[in-house]
Amino acid sequence: MEKYEKISELQLRLSELRKDKTIGFVPTMGALHQGHLSLISRSKAICGTTVASIFVNPAQFNDKDDYRRYPRTLDKDLEILENAGCDIVFAPGEKEIYPEKDKRIFDFGNLDKVMEGKFRPGHFNGVAQVVSRLFDIVNPDKAFFGQKDFQQVSIIKNMTLQLNLSVEIVVCPIIREQDGLAMSSRNMLLSDSQRKEAVNISQALLHAKTQAAVTPISEIRDEAVRWINSSPELRVEYMEIIDASTLQPVAGWDEAEEIFACVAVHAGKIRLIDNIQLK
Ligand code: AMP
Repeated sequence: MEKYEKISELQLRLSELRKDKTIGFVPTMGALHQGHLSLISRSKAICGTTVASIFVNPAQFNDKDDYRRYPRTLDKDLEILENAGCDIVFAPGEKEIYPEKDKRIFDFGNLDKVMEGKFRPGHFNGVAQVVSRLFDIVNPDKAFFGQKDFQQVSIIKNMTLQLNLSVEIVVCPIIREQDGLAMSSRNMLLSDSQRKEAVNISQALLHAKTQAAVTPISEIRDEAVRWINSSPELRVEYMEIIDASTLQPVAGWDEAEEIFACVAVHAGKIRLIDNIQLK
């Protein structure tokens, strides 16, 4: 595996590889787990060269403590990527990505007025800044994102349309721990008791799925919130049942073709998100 920190060196190498291979790109913030690796293996399956990036993007953290606490495990990540057969890793410093402050403001209409966008002001603007910058640098044919960050996928797709980028966005399913907890770099920050209780998040969503179509949406939502909040260490920040195409809440099962339940939960200072398709 080749490792680059400098944009110019990475681009020189990619310009050679691009001649006869498609470039697949997996942007990450490191602290890698099986969820990230599923994106790498999907890229390897359909692209000639797989590039992963590791960059903890300050611009997308609206909470400074969350940025400070975010796990950084670069040496281990490099080993994991090497073992996974990743071809190239790009691990830039902050000055390389932002030689100057990125002042761009994106307009995502209503897509970022709800859920993560509502509770993490500025988050998606920071995501769009870094992902557009990384797309510019890597110029991939395909880029791989996890369904785990459901709203992020909508934002990235919208951004590529707005910027007229030719990159294809490939969405990969959520990878879960054995007990159902969605894998996340933040899981390693949970205490033992928080980790045990966190299983209730996916259980509440799975239960909601079994009730879908036959139970009113507001009841399903309220029950899922109650289920999670019954764990002493968990507090639901939001639980929304939404139209997958607009991300706006729906009140009835016939209001949208595809309906998802999306949730954010605080376990002490750690914030976890998850989602499930209900229709
Ligand atoms: P992050 O390092 O958290 O920015 O995540 C990098 C990419 O991995 C994003 O596209 C995430 O959606 C994806 N990802 C994170 N966790 C999972 C998971 N449990 N299953 C699938 N994809 C994931």
